[in-house]
Amino acid sequence: MDTGASVKTSADFPLPTTMKAWVLGDPGELKLTEKTVPRPKRAEVLVRIDAVAICATDLEIIAHGSPALIEGGMPFNKNFTPGHEYMGTVVALGPGVDEYRIGQRVTVEIHAGCGQCKRCREGMYTSCLNYGAGDKGHRANGFTTDGGFCEYQVNNINTLVAIPDAMSDEEATLVVTAGTAMYGLTELGGLVAGESVVVTGPGPIGLLGVAVAKALGAAPVILTGTRDNRLKIGRELGADHVVNVRNDNAVEAVRRLNGGRGVDYVLECSGAPNAVNDAIHMVSRGGKVCLAAFPHDETRVDVAHIVRDNIYLYGIRGEGKSATHRAEALMSQKRFDATKIHTHTFALDDLPTAIRYARDRVDDAIKVVVKAKGVAAQRVAAE
Ligand SMILES: [Zn+2]
Ligand SMILES: [Zn+2]
Repeated sequence: MDTGASVKTSADFPLPTTMKAWVLGDPGELKLTEKTVPRPKRAEVLVRIDAVAICATDLEIIAHGSPALIEGGMPFNKNFTPGHEYMGTVVALGPGVDEYRIGQRVTVEIHAGCGQCKRCREGMYTSCLNYGAGDKGHRANGFTTDGGFCEYQVNNINTLVAIPDAMSDEEATLVVTAGTAMYGLTELGGLVAGESVVVTGPGPIGLLGVAVAKALGAAPVILTGTRDNRLKIGRELGADHVVNVRNDNAVEAVRRLNGGRGVDYVLECSGAPNAVNDAIHMVSRGGKVCLAAFPHDETRVDVAHIVRDNIYLYGIRGEGKSATHRAEALMSQKRFDATKIHTHTFALDDLPTAIRYARDRVDDAIKVVVKAKGVAAQRVAAE
């Protein structure tokens, strides 16, 4: 790496000039290549990536392209490196950076907004009005710029979250997922202690949504889903009730479990065809429905019911308003154990295997993590 006068490095972390990086070729095709180690600019640091979790959105990008947006279009055959749920160690500081130190462990948010549009100024940098405009300073790791399936990446300091030594690499990759659930429930939703919450869909965001809601004092917290093994983890993360929608009508079950009434919030994480209609019938008048899943098809929605019952319906993109910092605080204070959703770890070189485990839910995989430093493939004990 050209260290230049203004970039700070340390002999403790010698930097190579090139690194291993996975790049997306045609749809579904990942190739291991070499890339130049990037150089941090003003307000940026270089992070050595120690662990990166695979997200359902990565699987979507690798197979179908969207929602990644590279040079204004699909991300295929553009030397693009996906991956966005990573953590690591700061190994170089860009010009003027003194907010972090070399050797510090951090986890990273996905989005650095442009910082100059109306939404960024409101703290909603995941909804930046200059989304994808690199010349305006917008970055979204693994979406509009290179991400974490490699050994090093540059990050704006505003995307960094410091983590304590006691937090494992694997747990730290889950901060952004918990932060996404938190952004939907509190920053956008205004959840306060004692309010009732339903989470539909026990994927990673849903399961950590249960954990965050419970840690914030929501009651009751009800989780709905189709897989008993995942509902069981939801219980361990604090769900007061779980409903298997294969055996029970979800709307009726929720009302029964909440004393015959609708709940204050639904966090919709299933993307199921009838999920929005179910959600608006689970909330009470004036209740809020946060949509956190990407369904594939358009769905018919009972709009008259939304109007009649004054229901708030809002989408959530990522982890705005620094919600990840609050999620990290709950995690480092052991208010919930996010590692319950981490099931497997593979070496970075085995990324295609790791992706297959995550996509096909091999061996009941939930969160699959890859690590650059040689690790043997392992199944993490769930108990
Ligand atoms: Zn993700
Ligand atoms: Zn912006």
